[in-house]
Amino acid sequence: MTDTIAAVATPPGEGGIGIVRLSGPQAKRIAESLTGILLRPRFAHYSRFLAIDGSTIDSGIALWFKNPASFTGEDVVELQGHGGPVVVHMVLQRCLELGARPARPGEFSERAFLNDKLDLAQAEAIADLISSTTTAAVRAANRSLEGAFSERVNALLSHLVDLRVYVEAAIDFPDEEDVDFLADGQVESRLGALLAQVVELKESATRGKTLRSGITVALTGPPNAGKSSLMNALTETDTAIVTDIPGTTRDVLREQIQIDGIPVHLIDTAGIREATDAVEAEGVRRAQIVLESADVILAVNDARDAMEHESADPRVIHVMNKTDLTGRGAGLAGDSTIRTSAIRCEGIAELRQMIAARAGTADAAEGTFTARTRHLDALGRTQDHAQAALDHLRSTQAGELVAEELRYAQQSLGEITGSFSADDLLGEIFSSFCIGK
Ligand code: GDP
Repeated sequence: MTDTIAAVATPPGEGGIGIVRLSGPQAKRIAESLTGILLRPRFAHYSRFLAIDGSTIDSGIALWFKNPASFTGEDVVELQGHGGPVVVHMVLQRCLELGARPARPGEFSERAFLNDKLDLAQAEAIADLISSTTTAAVRAANRSLEGAFSERVNALLSHLVDLRVYVEAAIDFPDEEDVDFLADGQVESRLGALLAQVVELKESATRGKTLRSGITVALTGPPNAGKSSLMNALTETDTAIVTDIPGTTRDVLREQIQIDGIPVHLIDTAGIREATDAVEAEGVRRAQIVLESADVILAVNDARDAMEHESADPRVIHVMNKTDLTGRGAGLAGDSTIRTSAIRCEGIAELRQMIAARAGTADAAEGTFTARTRHLDALGRTQDHAQAALDHLRSTQAGELVAEELRYAQQSLGEITGSFSADDLLGEIFSSFCIGK
């Protein structure tokens, strides 16, 4: 038996509708006390929401989802009233007086996970869907939510389990029918195939992570080279500027665009240096941190001052700007050099392509699912253990060691969907969700 939780499910601020959501064994009773009517499952009751003295707090729709056919698998009630911050708070407050307790961030999703409505990767996909900043990321999050990622993990898990059974049997019955299970090549080839699949899934997940969190492009170079003009040019040629959507922000130093559906965070490091109120050294330090962690660096120069050259750092693209003043045409000038005119918007399309190629984002938008660093870590450990199992098999044929590594591999892989997850891991994952989700 669990307690009943309540939270405002709509964002803070004013809006057409504000929703308070309840989940737990007392949800229906609380909503019936609040409305003074008996609820039918999945029926939209229009009702008043009553204060303790019988006066009206608000009026709206009460909707009861009877367990287990609900998001959390418990009784869930949605109270859909008017979307003002105070009135919604008053409805929530009344629910708390009637016996609910405030939900922790992500607690509705956590309950859905605990009641087997979703696995962990799917629950995370809900949070990813909400925080998606490009249409491609939305589509990918939906594929994860529908189970595209989990299905591939589960298929691998079942191969792993089959293999473990085979290896454990070989250990337990070493002389069965005079066949040496471990030496017959079967285990080795199956393990090799499994390893290849893990690597493949890791590559898909890496693309999924890029799609979700995007890449960072830092602009650096001397004053007046044209960094802010270039940032403007990149932004203006973007067909779907995310920052035009209400609720997202514009900032001269940081701008988000998309290239092939990938969120691209542009950062002007010179701007960061100058905008720091603290001492100059602090600005330099912060700009340095941005440069170190950037996926791509645009080293911008005035084409009249600088020599064209290639860089040893694979992240660097040399941008020779102001080509309009040199009489040379814009466009590619080498593997890592490009000539542009930010003012005339020339060479910008090619620059966008170069950024995409640097980030390895080609095809990332299509057919993939969202993934997180946590998933990549788990897949990395799965790969390591599977590789160790293969190494033991080839070098010593020590069945116990092979079996042990396979067990670890299964555990690591199981963390993705939550079939092997410690409680503290769950706490960490769901606490990053918003309240009411
Ligand atoms: P930043 O200091 O690197 O950010 O450089 P700005 O973007 O502020 O540009 C410095 C000056 O160069 C401004 O007067 C811009 O109009 C000019 N500028 C920038 N890009 C170009 C370009 O491609 N061609 C020409 N002719 N002028 C440019």
